[in-house]
Amino acid sequence: MMVITWSVSAGDTRDVGLVADQVRDWRQIHEQVIVDRFAGLLSIPNVASDSVNIRRNADHISNMLEAAGMHVELLELDGSNPAVFAERPVAGAQRTLMIYVHYDGQPVNADNWADDPWTPVMRSNLVEKNGKRVPMKAPFDPEWRIFGRSAGDDKAPIVALQSTLLALAASGIEPTVNLKVFMEGEEEAGSPNLRRILEKHKAKLAADLWLFCDGPAHQSRRWQLVYGVRGTYGFNLTVYGPNRPLHSGHYGNWAPNPIMLLTELIGSMRAADGNVYVDGFYDQVSPLTPSEEAAIAASPLMDKMLLADLGIGRPETKDRIEIAITRPAMNLRGIKGGDVGANARNAIQPSAQASIGLRLVPDQTPEFLREVIERHIRQQGYHIIHDNPTDQQRSEHGRLVQVNWPNYGGYPSYRAAFDHPLAVQISTILNRLSDNTLIQTPTMGGSLPLYVVEDVLNTPILILPVANHDNNQHGANENLRLQNLWDAIEIYAAVLTGL
Ligand SMILES: [Zn+2]
Repeated sequence: MMVITWSVSAGDTRDVGLVADQVRDWRQIHEQVIVDRFAGLLSIPNVASDSVNIRRNADHISNMLEAAGMHVELLELDGSNPAVFAERPVAGAQRTLMIYVHYDGQPVNADNWADDPWTPVMRSNLVEKNGKRVPMKAPFDPEWRIFGRSAGDDKAPIVALQSTLLALAASGIEPTVNLKVFMEGEEEAGSPNLRRILEKHKAKLAADLWLFCDGPAHQSRRWQLVYGVRGTYGFNLTVYGPNRPLHSGHYGNWAPNPIMLLTELIGSMRAADGNVYVDGFYDQVSPLTPSEEAAIAASPLMDKMLLADLGIGRPETKDRIEIAITRPAMNLRGIKGGDVGANARNAIQPSAQASIGLRLVPDQTPEFLREVIERHIRQQGYHIIHDNPTDQQRSEHGRLVQVNWPNYGGYPSYRAAFDHPLAVQISTILNRLSDNTLIQTPTMGGSLPLYVVEDVLNTPILILPVANHDNNQHGANENLRLQNLWDAIEIYAAVLTGL
């Protein structure tokens, strides 16, 4: 696991509050240009499969970072999207900080958006809360939001970091760490080339800490430092009945119904309260440490607000959400078989399908989960195949299921130790900046490929999210609240000058 090769300096020499004040002064007179730069970046489409526009993003970001005094280089492999790598050494600095951002975004369904996803607009509030269009002109209300794909996930940190560097330079403040930046162009596509890029450029990408700048701030709007993520994996199931649809009157109660078999199989794996019945599923799980439990207990309870906001009558579990997401999860992503409503037919279908997602926690591995899940399916009397069945297989086995696992193989979770010296130092800096209101979150519920970074580079990792929690990431009307952008500039300045 982690090798600690440095010692924490005794006390900071710089007052992070003073740095934040100076950076804020600079920001207040540059808000228009910051917003214009953000809008410019958001207007370049950034779906990972759109390689032409992806390159335009990479070039645009390269120019932005060069303008902020960084030396930039594109790292790419045959067939990969370029990762933007930049560095800015500081004479005499003892440590190197790597900031990770991804500049690609989720695909869009423009029909669901109030405005074009790549023509940024400003609104006074969320579309769902009747936010009105306002001109993208200073003076700005900090509650206003800028809308566009990747406003929250994950282009805001790019503009914030550039602004931080420009503000520090204008104020004559030199960072205390060597800064490196790695901006991935295919994170939302599952980071298919990340491992190979890291392996190829190991020396270049070495740092004392990787700080992932992605994800939302806490739902209470307080800043949070996140120590890990859950891993991700999943599988698809196809259960078989007769080799053609059969009349349910002539054959019902005799021919096996695959929809029935599938729901029974799913019911054998997971309860409605989230508990997974698969033998061995929890075997590798490491419990929370006392300090992780204490940090969760100290964070504000958001469940009531979330229940009302999301129209949920009763959650799956009695535990608060922060505890629930520290557990491994099996999520039913989708189920397909026959038709309903006016299209329903009195037939027994030949097959039914389900897609199931998994979220992993320390120290679960995808390989082990695959093994115990397939064993469980066999224990239910199924013969497992990984391709479409032959006629012979259909008649040979009383119960037949096709199980398909993704080619990329999934990845484990990652969690940094609360008492890691750099984690302690970053949380101290952020607490100083926010009057001791920083929330420490052991894990994000979602997944990021942190494990891959740790595995290849053996570097500790923390996540410092800056987007508003209601940024609609991955959905329609994605947005960033301006105050979050302003805060991000100060947060980065404090980290760059306090480490
Ligand atoms: Zn993201």
